[in-house]
Amino acid sequence: MLDSVVIRRAKIVCTIGPSSEERQALEQLIRAGMDVARLNFSHGTHEEHGRRFQTIRAAADACDKPVAILQDLCGPKIRAGKFEGGTLDLPTDASIALVECTKDQQYAGPGEMPVLYEGLAEDLQPGDVVLIDDGRMVLTVTKVESRRVNAVATQGGRLRDRVGVSLPARRIRLAALTEKDKADLSFGLSIGIDYVALSFVKNAEDIRLVKDICEAWGRPTPIVAKIETPSAVENLESIIAVTDAVMVARGDLGVEFNPERVPVIQREILGLARVHQKPVIVATEMLQSMVTSSRPTRAEASDVATAVFDGTDAVMLSQETATGNHPPLVARVMSRIIVEAEQSHFFRPLASEIPGKRTNIAESVARNGCDIARDIGARVIVAFTESGSSALYASKHRPVVPIIAFSPNAATRRRLALLWGVVPWPIDKFTNADEMVERASMVLASQGVVSPGDKFVAIFGAPIGVTGSTNSIRVKVVE
Ligand code: PGA
Ligand code: MN
Repeated sequence: MLDSVVIRRAKIVCTIGPSSEERQALEQLIRAGMDVARLNFSHGTHEEHGRRFQTIRAAADACDKPVAILQDLCGPKIRAGKFEGGTLDLPTDASIALVECTKDQQYAGPGEMPVLYEGLAEDLQPGDVVLIDDGRMVLTVTKVESRRVNAVATQGGRLRDRVGVSLPARRIRLAALTEKDKADLSFGLSIGIDYVALSFVKNAEDIRLVKDICEAWGRPTPIVAKIETPSAVENLESIIAVTDAVMVARGDLGVEFNPERVPVIQREILGLARVHQKPVIVATEMLQSMVTSSRPTRAEASDVATAVFDGTDAVMLSQETATGNHPPLVARVMSRIIVEAEQSHFFRPLASEIPGKRTNIAESVARNGCDIARDIGARVIVAFTESGSSALYASKHRPVVPIIAFSPNAATRRRLALLWGVVPWPIDKFTNADEMVERASMVLASQGVVSPGDKFVAIFGAPIGVTGSTNSIRVKVVE
């Protein structure tokens, strides 16, 4: 088991939906390479997500692999209401009136487009551009009346029920965490999600808000900041400093910015996350054509490989696994692209950079453990970890060998599934460092990872069992 999982370093996040929610499909997805399962709360009921959550846990147990579950909160995204018959065709150059509607009254009149946003007319001015459906349609505002905005379709198309509506981002007055998000988060925390992602983050304060709620619940949960608004790009460094992980949410980034900005912002995020030692997930349209096709386009294969060469921690599948035709095949293809890139001699991931002087003992111990492993040609790095922090520091240092993270804590093992190059593995609780290193040596030998004469480097905190006290490096020669 260890032998097969140590091969791939970058991790795979799969969105779970109607095509992948059954037990057997989930097991296939896990075997194909899923490390993190994403539940997208923009769609579906609590009951549906609750059922998926339980099935993922059961499938992961059956496959004997730690899989993290990430709850993705939809955040302040504005959507259209409903259309008679479900759609409305709007040819290019046609006029349309946007009208405010509510959750209880989602329809508008003929030739009108209902929008679920209070104060719509106050936030728009003539000349403003409104993007529909991730920019597939474009409206330009011509006239603003009370609760009614006239616009012309500069790029027409077909409007669908509940399609996404992007207003000029700076004027949106929605709270970072809507009432729906709060209810969803309470639900997620109650079932025990491993990560929570927040959409349309604007600043560091938004992240603190979620953090406070998790803490008030007594369930501190790592937060993924989805970078997809211009404000988030402006406040990038302060957001990355407070969050636990970041997502390059290229779908909405490509709506808020011109497409040519997206690859540049992706690199900016990867660079800052390296400085701040935070994992990054590159997301959206990575293998989009595989929603239906059985082979990726060359450009898609190249996109996944480029993210890997650029040092991403994880890559994500959305529609490909949620509603696509063959989720396990897509995950397998993604895994193969990653491995091929990582095994090529072009793959030289950059180690974390420390801004200014080193102050964190655990971080310094982890980094130096990685350097020792390289110097002596160790087979693996072993991190004994309660909270997972030493494995994170080692991961962000991008060692040449895998990091086997031994933890007695199942929740920690699941969270570690997201981290680059980290293989979570269970171990009993120990109170004695010698016994703990011996046990790890036995486990690694029995898994075929090390043979007599091989070396590994262990990092741990002594006294054993105290969280966040990583202060020791031990080199072990296997007998
Ligand atoms: P979404 O986020 O799929 O929830 O929109 C990702 C993105 O915008 O890229
Ligand atoms: Mn998005």
